[in-house]
Amino acid sequence: MSKPLIVVTGAGSGIGAATARLLSAQGHPLLLLGRRLEKLEELALPRALCRKVDVTDRDAFAAAVREAEERFGPVDAIVNNAGAMLLGRIADQGAEEWDRMIDLNVKGVLYGVRAVLPGMLARGTGTIINVGSVAGRKTFPNHTAYVATKFAVHAMSENLREEVAAAGVRVVTVAPGAVETELLSHTTDERIRQDYEAWKESAGGALDAHAVAEAIAYAYHQPQHVTVREIVLAATGQQA
Ligand code: NDP
Repeated sequence: MSKPLIVVTGAGSGIGAATARLLSAQGHPLLLLGRRLEKLEELALPRALCRKVDVTDRDAFAAAVREAEERFGPVDAIVNNAGAMLLGRIADQGAEEWDRMIDLNVKGVLYGVRAVLPGMLARGTGTIINVGSVAGRKTFPNHTAYVATKFAVHAMSENLREEVAAAGVRVVTVAPGAVETELLSHTTDERIRQDYEAWKESAGGALDAHAVAEAIAYAYHQPQHVTVREIVLAATGQQA
């Protein structure tokens, strides 16, 4: 029997790309979303619809999901992975960086949920996987605005889980510690970037994105009556 459609946001790099590769190798058709279409297409995955979508554009997000469903059938899961970590001190960080993280990390997740949830509720099945963070459970230096968005992901996911549990829809939060990806490169404060790199090194290095993809796939592949509510994983050497 053919496997159902899964949506992966931010699939062009890091955790999203590793997840797309793994789920594709497991036989799933995919909808891959991100702003750099070439990064999605470079993955060259079979039965993968690649669309240049900014997930803060609610209508474009929903339209891409409809297009994928017309091609591959109903969405069985979404991995709301697209996100940005713009570290900074609140006294001097540009407020537009807070806006960007809140729009992407919080509203982008809500838009993803809205694009798939009505269909999942109607079918009485489906899985929503939101990528949170260890920084969605505890605080770190220079992370004030970022932790606000990741704590929000954890809170929204748990509340949503309660809302849809009786309808048979699963909500999973996957919360990684430091992972070696492009994420840090978007922080504009050079000194903060260097401190973060030194912190990662002192912990013996960060996780490989594939380890997070494996955790996502593990949660997804449980029988539908089993919800892995949260997975927190980090490099063994990461103390914080
Ligand atoms: P990356 O920067 O490699 O991946 C983020 C992805 O999101 C990119 O592919 C980017 O593609 C996409 N993206 C960014 N903005 C948008 C947007 N507006 N619309 C659509 N896609 C967008 O980092 P990671 O793989 O590390 O990050 C993935 C998730 O993991 C994030 O939510 C992050 O917060 C979380 N996380 C990461 C950790 C880490 O240490 N790396 C630790 C804990 C959590 P494009 O630019 O083409 O749009």
